[in-house]
Amino acid sequence: MMNEKLYEQLAQIVDRKHIFPDELLKNHTYTKLGGKADFFITPSRYEEVQKLVLFCKKSGVPLTLIGNGSNLIVRDGGIRGVVLSLKNLNAINTEGNRIIAQSGAAIIDTSRKALEASLTGLEFACGIPGTVGGALFMNAGAYGGEIKDVLEECLVIDKDGELRTRKAEELDLSYRHSNIEEKGDIVLEATFLLKEGNYDEIKAVMDDLTFRRESKQPLEYPSCGSVFKRPPGYYAGKLIQDSHLQGYRIGGAEVSKKHAGFIVNINNATATEYISLIEHVQKTVKEKFNVQLEREVRIIGEDLEN
Ligand SMILES: Cc1cc2nc3c(=O)[nH]c(=O)nc-3n(C[C@H](O)[C@H](O)[C@H](O)COP(=O)(O)OP(=O)(O)OC[C@H]3O[C@@H](n4cnc5c(N)ncnc54)[C@H](O)[C@@H]3O)c2cc1C
Repeated sequence: MMNEKLYEQLAQIVDRKHIFPDELLKNHTYTKLGGKADFFITPSRYEEVQKLVLFCKKSGVPLTLIGNGSNLIVRDGGIRGVVLSLKNLNAINTEGNRIIAQSGAAIIDTSRKALEASLTGLEFACGIPGTVGGALFMNAGAYGGEIKDVLEECLVIDKDGELRTRKAEELDLSYRHSNIEEKGDIVLEATFLLKEGNYDEIKAVMDDLTFRRESKQPLEYPSCGSVFKRPPGYYAGKLIQDSHLQGYRIGGAEVSKKHAGFIVNINNATATEYISLIEHVQKTVKEKFNVQLEREVRIIGEDLEN
């Protein structure tokens, strides 16, 4: 049953057309997994985000932020309280050698904007299906490039609802890591400092990376991309392949036959099935090779009550 009182309180902060009670989160995650959010909210102004943060803090309502849901598994019981999506804050602007993108913009669109302006540095991001906010959070990277190489600074709302500018060096960016969660920041926009380049050369690199991605990754099925981080000295995909796990299924989830590092949702999998398969892969690889695979994908939300 919807909490009417909470709905009215939220409607004091955000326009009703941007509040979605009991929204199914499987519609907002790349894996197509996840139960309902009590309230899914998509503000269109920074001020609304600020007020929401302060309201949730004061009233003890849990607040969960999602980007494009491309590195998230939401459990089948969904998420209590407010799930905040910044997808309506998605402007991307060019100023000289800088691209300033709001955090709900797709990092793919940001890399295309750089191409249009003949700016080089963001080519690596042309196939990463996250938002700018999610890309900073994960220090997303591919084919030798990462956010750390091009980020100058970002605007955030801190856990007390204050707007702050954080320089890239303050984010402690390393392989698929930032300190954004530790600090409790919400990223609102990012400034990327790029270099002047040649349109045709930038486009050629992007086309090549897109070809490599499309030929190697099972993009025809819902997934969360690479499930595991690269273990030092190994490749997760190779360890999984050598464990003969490709094609192994639990319910509707399968270890991809095309790329062993991916788990694909081939037939309406539940989050429980998908997570069980992740754990099975970890256990098998540990037994065979004594390597502990660490998850890159984040798992949030509640299990279904029995
Ligand atoms: C097919 C496929 C291919 C992929 N390829 C790559 C790849 O090549 N390289 C790579 O690095 N990743 C890759 N990924 C993983 C994923 O796209 C990245 O990790 C991406 O950066 C996640 O962004 P998102 O917006 O989807 O974040 P989400 O998955 O929605 O969220 C991830 C985390 O970021 C936090 N977050 C989101 N927005 C904000 C914000 N504004 N402020 C603060 N925190 C925020 C969320 O709270 C959450 O904890 C791939 C995924 C898929 C499905």
